[in-house]
Amino acid sequence: MIIVPESVIAGLMDRATAFNAVEAVFAAMASGDAYNFPVIREAIGHADALYGFKSGFDRKSLALGLKSGGYWPGNEEKGLTNHQSTVILFDADTGRVKALVGGNLLTALRTAAASSVSIKHLAPKDAKVLGMIGAGHQSTFQMRAAVEQRDFEKVIGWNYHPEMLSRLADLAAELGLPFEAVELDQLGAEADVIISITSAFAPSLMDAHVTGPTHIACMGTDTKGKQEVEAALVARASVFTDEVAQAISIGECQHAIADGSLQEADITELGAVINGTHPGRTSGDEITLFDGTGVGLQDLAVASAVVDLAVEKGVATEMDF
Ligand code: NAD
Repeated sequence: MIIVPESVIAGLMDRATAFNAVEAVFAAMASGDAYNFPVIREAIGHADALYGFKSGFDRKSLALGLKSGGYWPGNEEKGLTNHQSTVILFDADTGRVKALVGGNLLTALRTAAASSVSIKHLAPKDAKVLGMIGAGHQSTFQMRAAVEQRDFEKVIGWNYHPEMLSRLADLAAELGLPFEAVELDQLGAEADVIISITSAFAPSLMDAHVTGPTHIACMGTDTKGKQEVEAALVARASVFTDEVAQAISIGECQHAIADGSLQEADITELGAVINGTHPGRTSGDEITLFDGTGVGLQDLAVASAVVDLAVEKGVATEMDF
């Protein structure tokens, strides 16, 4: 068994590797080569924790395994990250444990890679303004990955807690882009690409806010009840997702599905666009929306890639198991 601890992942993994792994697994999902198993997520009645598993199998890459982990709200006081995850990979030919991989940084990288893949395939080619909604832990990973897909000239941002916006301003400065804090109506009118990455349970971005051609990557909603954008906006957009089953149950689409304004058949897997079986954006003034719910196969894809890198660079710890 190979062990790749959390502490070495930052030195091994890069955004391009995460992007390629996620793009490939989305393609494999859409062609029926890869599938996710049902997600388990439970409030365990101890330490206020939510704990669960995401798992799946990719017959193309032979990635088999699970990401186990969850949310421990008291961790920050202990100097630990509240979100904790670990990936276990198995040998698809024998079922033996293949690798144990730290999953915290990989989760942020694979989530940012997902919206970045959606921007590559769906955003207007001439997108110049990036709009960020959310300024939490994930937001900087999102911004870094997004700016690699288009020649953005400016970042504008809004956050429910405005005092956190300095995080976006600082990163934009590091990336050499001007940053402006704006209200949501200005963000919806000006941004060519919008990323929303919040933990909200009520919509921030409303249908009336968004005018003109835009690509919206909704990345925060990954649980029943969460919501970042108004259901009417989802219904008006051309909707894409990582996995339809998750989009309608725990993703941003759950609300438009529930009020009947969106049908399951209206939702396309992003992998279909990657594979060329769906045209993606078809008109100049279209609003495309990617509902990135976060699937187990993304975790297996990036964990497999980091194991390969660890072996290649001679930093993998091997043990008999
Ligand atoms: P965080 O706690 O660091 O930041 C939370 C963000 O949400 C902040 O910007 C905060 O101001 C904002 N917020 C809080 N309450 C709000 C409200 N009522 N209305 C609007 N905004 C509000 O969280 P994070 O680590 O940046 O994660 C953000 C979200 O992304 C979480 O919901 C998390 O579960 C989700 N997530 C999704 C995936 C995926 O694959 N889709 C992966 C990882 C995390």
